Amino acid sequence: MSEKALPSLAQIDITALKGVGKQLAEKLARLHIYTLQDLLFHLPSRYLDRTKITPIGALQPGQNAVIQGIIKASDVVYGRRRSLMCRLQDGTGTLTLRFYHFSGSQKAKLTPGSHVRCYGEARRGSSGLEMYHPEYEFYDEQSQLVLPDSLTPVYPVGEGITQSRLRGLISQLLPQVNKQNVPELLPSSNADISLAEALQYLHQPPVDAAVDLLMDGLHPYQQRLAFEELLAHNLSLLRVRDKIQSSQAPRLPDNELSHERFLSSLSFKPTGAQERVIQEISHDINKPVPMLRLVQGDVGSGKTLVAAAAALQAIANGYQVALMAPTEILAEQHRQNFSHWFEPLGVTVGHLNGKQKASTRKEQLAATVSGENQLIVGTHALFQNEVEFADLGLVIIDEQHRFGVHQRMALRAKGQHGIGRPHQLVMTATPIPRTLAMSAYADLDISVIDELPPGRSPVSTALVANERRQQVIDRVKSACSEGRQAYWVCTLIEESEALEAQAAEVTANDLQQQLSGLAVGLIHGRLKPSEKETVMAQFKAGEIKVLVATTVIEVGVDVPNASLMIIENPERLGLAQLHQLRGRVGRGSTASHCVLLYGQPLSEYGRARLSAMRETNDGFKIAERDLELRGPGEVLGTKQTGEMQFKLADLQRDANLIKRIRDTARAISAEHPELIDPIIQRWLGQVEEYAQV
Ligand code: ADP
Ligand code: MG
Repeated sequence: MSEKALPSLAQIDITALKGVGKQLAEKLARLHIYTLQDLLFHLPSRYLDRTKITPIGALQPGQNAVIQGIIKASDVVYGRRRSLMCRLQDGTGTLTLRFYHFSGSQKAKLTPGSHVRCYGEARRGSSGLEMYHPEYEFYDEQSQLVLPDSLTPVYPVGEGITQSRLRGLISQLLPQVNKQNVPELLPSSNADISLAEALQYLHQPPVDAAVDLLMDGLHPYQQRLAFEELLAHNLSLLRVRDKIQSSQAPRLPDNELSHERFLSSLSFKPTGAQERVIQEISHDINKPVPMLRLVQGDVGSGKTLVAAAAALQAIANGYQVALMAPTEILAEQHRQNFSHWFEPLGVTVGHLNGKQKASTRKEQLAATVSGENQLIVGTHALFQNEVEFADLGLVIIDEQHRFGVHQRMALRAKGQHGIGRPHQLVMTATPIPRTLAMSAYADLDISVIDELPPGRSPVSTALVANERRQQVIDRVKSACSEGRQAYWVCTLIEESEALEAQAAEVTANDLQQQLSGLAVGLIHGRLKPSEKETVMAQFKAGEIKVLVATTVIEVGVDVPNASLMIIENPERLGLAQLHQLRGRVGRGSTASHCVLLYGQPLSEYGRARLSAMRETNDGFKIAERDLELRGPGEVLGTKQTGEMQFKLADLQRDANLIKRIRDTARAISAEHPELIDPIIQRWLGQVEEYAQV
């Protein structure tokens, strides 16, 4: 038999599998699965050990387990939310199954006397140990259910595709996999384990697999694949970087006079760290290649000033600067700051946002294309098609983690005429751990502002259960009657601005009643820009004492007299986001406090996360912790956009591979450039297009 005749799995359409018609193919496409190779590389994100039953009496909170027993009682209870609760007993203990969503037939079947086996996570709840929405099946004492004899893979799934459907398709595919149709691409010194073998093993780990290693992602087969996956990412980033660095940008030499005039107009002196970063940028933009620099600085470290110095250097050379902020509130704050700083120097500051009046917008667009606007501050409205610049020399993006790479690229593309590309400065308060930064941002140079302006007092953080809400309100009352100001932040699980606004409104009314005599204000994403401006101005002026807000105030907002921050249901937010919110206080010289007002029950995991907030004020430490607990997609805020999502690699865990990966990437680029495409295609597939410039 000729091996050459076998087509690679990359060339066989997914519909070649039995049972995959047009409809299923469409659903698979949403998971980026188009070919048999794509399916084969759709790897389990984790495994469940369902090979043994755990006695209820031995269960620990936080443990994922299989349990089984008899339902002793079953009832619909009306607490804060209606739920179906079933007491399950197995001779060693009892546990409550809790369902917030349930059908009539579920309720009719989950009745006393039925035998049930459940799979899920045990949590400490109000009735002792509980499992929320476990997977379950019924059995009777004669016909015991069989336990699986290998680990159960859990795949990333999308709408309309179940785990068992995917498991079925993969079982159908695996017998066809061999060394010929899944060729090795790595130089041989890196591939001691065959790819086909590793893939087979990881989709269906055998009975005697080293469970602990697999669960931790440290099995040699996983490491073999993680290496190749990280290599694919590295190659792809190198390609982007090369492309950018081979293009031109305007040289923007430093004009010392304008810098000095600006800095001497300020009421404070830049910190040493600010000076250093200003110099790094100044040096970069004086070169004819596009700068790609990420400035990291914890909340309150003074990134705005650094941005201003860079902007001024570009403007002094006759170029325009675009400054993009993620929210309207922040864009407005920047506009005020920059106007205040720049207008005395004769610089025109324009602004563009999504909600301005048509006539204002028209004026601003005209002033931007004519070059009259020298600095243009705005939200994502800046990169809409109709926005044209006369001579864009520098793009500054504040709070980068809120923007996807696409948006970043769109703005960069705006400057692409005549002189080449604009320089780009990205500022983020989300400190990105080193290992992650190296891999995720291979296309950026990094500057760190590692010093806070003098006179800041650290924020102390407390965890308080919602049961003690009244005490917290009393505390707000006494703080505000002493002249201090407070933020009260409402969070919601649903990604709906309308619902979130509603919840904040209810809270504001409630607080206003309890805090009679103190002015309570309200700000959320549904207000008009002019209304937001008014509320913020009143809060800044101290006319509003307590500002009830949704997470719209998360980034950038600066009101030094506010020294108390209450965050409701902090368990719903990521650590980086909490750190951002907390960064709104601790800006003045009075001692500041942050209260995390959590809802019960809090999972073990939730408690671990919130404790990290109490233990440190250091954004870098918090980011490290976030990375450990949630993975890089969440930390970088890129989960939704699909970039930097790994199938099985984990930058934190696999940091030890990074050096070898970089060496290998260099060797492949030099000796086997023909392998670059197939490696990237295999691991990044469609996703790589996002990284194109
Ligand atoms: P962030 O890094 O979070 O964007 P900002 O640029 O908003 O921080 O700065 C936070 C506050 O610190 C602002 O009120 C700003 O005016 C002030 N600030 C910035 N640099 C200094 C400095 N060198 N000395 C004193 N205050 C400063
Ligand atoms: Mg800022």
